[in-house]
Amino acid sequence: MNNKNFLKPKVVISKCIEFEHCRWNGNIIKSNFVKVLKTYVEFHPVCAEVEIGLGVPREPIKIIKSERLKLIQPATMREYTKNMEKFAETFLTSISDIDGFIMKFKSPSCGLYETKYYYDEKPGSAVIEKGAGLFGKAVLDKFPNLSIETEGRLMNLRIREH
Ligand code: SF4
Repeated sequence: MNNKNFLKPKVVISKCIEFEHCRWNGNIIKSNFVKVLKTYVEFHPVCAEVEIGLGVPREPIKIIKSERLKLIQPATMREYTKNMEKFAETFLTSISDIDGFIMKFKSPSCGLYETKYYYDEKPGSAVIEKGAGLFGKAVLDKFPNLSIETEGRLMNLRIREH
């Protein structure tokens, strides 16, 4: 059978990984592994921060952990928690037949396990915990049985093979 006759898995990916210069500073994340996968995977790139109306470039946002997790842009003191939760709900409900996710390591939006939670919005504020970004958390909650990884962890051969 010709290679192109195989069904390709559908994978949602953080758009800044090999697809678009949409990071807060206008950068793109290089990933040789994702580059290779493009031949074999049907990627669905999405940038949660652009989708909630933050432009490129933009002032960075961070997660403040108080009585709940808050997504704050310290430079403007605007809060984007509800915008992100609403986008996550709408987007994740709209997709179907998805086989997995590749998410940006440590992002306050797309991160899965390593995102820093800060005590407050002040520069130099202490990191009091690490966990998922707000969009990443919604992905983990909604699709507990799918393959969901960060591009950072996929640099580790053992994790990647698993
Ligand atoms: S980590 Fe997610 S929200 Fe941030 S730039 Fe990349 S795709 Fe956009």
